[in-house]
Amino acid sequence: MTLNELGRHTAEQFAKTYKRPPQWIAAAPGRVNVIGEHTDYNDGFVLPMAIERYTVIAAAPAKRGATKIQLRSPLGDGTVTVDLTQPVKPAPKGAWSNYPVGVIAGFLARGVKLGGFDALIHSTVPLGGGLSSSAALEVATATLLEAITGLKLDPVDKALLCQKAEHDYAGMPCGIMDQFISVMGKKDHLLLLDCRSRKTELVPMTDPTKALLIINTNVKHELTGGEYAKRRAQCEQAAKILSLSSLRDATADMLLRARGKMEDVVFRRARHVIGEIERTPHAAEAVRASNWPTLGQLMYASHDSLRDDYEVSCPELDAVVEIAQAIGPKGGVIGCRMTGGGFGGCAVAMVNADAVTAISDRIASEYERRTKIKPTLFVSRPAAGATLLKPAAK
Ligand code: ADP
Ligand code: MG
Repeated sequence: MTLNELGRHTAEQFAKTYKRPPQWIAAAPGRVNVIGEHTDYNDGFVLPMAIERYTVIAAAPAKRGATKIQLRSPLGDGTVTVDLTQPVKPAPKGAWSNYPVGVIAGFLARGVKLGGFDALIHSTVPLGGGLSSSAALEVATATLLEAITGLKLDPVDKALLCQKAEHDYAGMPCGIMDQFISVMGKKDHLLLLDCRSRKTELVPMTDPTKALLIINTNVKHELTGGEYAKRRAQCEQAAKILSLSSLRDATADMLLRARGKMEDVVFRRARHVIGEIERTPHAAEAVRASNWPTLGQLMYASHDSLRDDYEVSCPELDAVVEIAQAIGPKGGVIGCRMTGGGFGGCAVAMVNADAVTAISDRIASEYERRTKIKPTLFVSRPAAGATLLKPAAK
């Protein structure tokens, strides 16, 4: 479905639910990170792109003087009502409404006047699949509220307001990547984001013969040992041994010289982060120059490092990458790596657009043969960030 079709579909659902047409329709995309994994909390670079999967919210004012917001999503439990005469508070952890309500709270905290409205949410971003349906929901909500209240936020401010909603309302201490790309994505561009300075640079990916193939392993290994927190702590430890505030300023040489002062596992974690921070701007340059062999090497190097040094891959992600690599440039695969936090979720491959069907079929069949699990695949060109759609004329 194109974005406009999705908008129309959501407007129809809105009209069925609330018996009138919507006045506003806001949309925000999910994302995939092309390279730069586990670098965000080390003040490094990431290189995400917005995908052609969106969360769309259609809304219309409630009756005159009404002070309640009604939010409905067929993908969430029940209708959520926000009473604007009462202080807005988070619902218990895990409630889907925390994402949009956290954004509403962010707008109210800016002192805007907000009347009651009815909203219907529809999404083609898979939930919990590592493609950031959560940021898409937050940013779509913020885009809607900009239209309703007339308060137009600066893009950085808007992304940070959404991140705060995820921290304070959803209880997820996420980085800034997902909200930044969902706000600032641009058609035919990746976004190079410096997580330290928050500076962004749009990186053109103009070669129309290339696309990103996203392969969801459809596994999510439950981890009980606080693996994410452990890795963050190991990175901090490495930085401390190097007398740095983060691994952003570390070099491979510095790390080698200090090898004797740290446990091997800490050394390997830092080696991943330092290498990945270096690879990410190189990959951006390679995309800009349509230098596909270099991009491919960087993507495979990223995967190897995540698997061996950072130890956040899993057999299913490794299987996808091995299959993709075996198809190789002759079969239209430029590079492939796991993407997202790891231990399951998605892999991403840069591919020749004209070979997508053959590549998808082969990855799907070999992956299923090896793992007995059906993967989900879809292709995307770099999409635009959040936008308002025009409701159809009455
Ligand atoms: P991801 O962002 O990778 O998809 P998260 O766990 O961060 O995974 O966010 C998924 C959660 O976000 C869902 O469990 C749900 O609570 C909420 N969510 C996202 N999109 C929607 C939607 N369209 N409708 C209802 N809830 C949604
Ligand atoms: Mg998320």
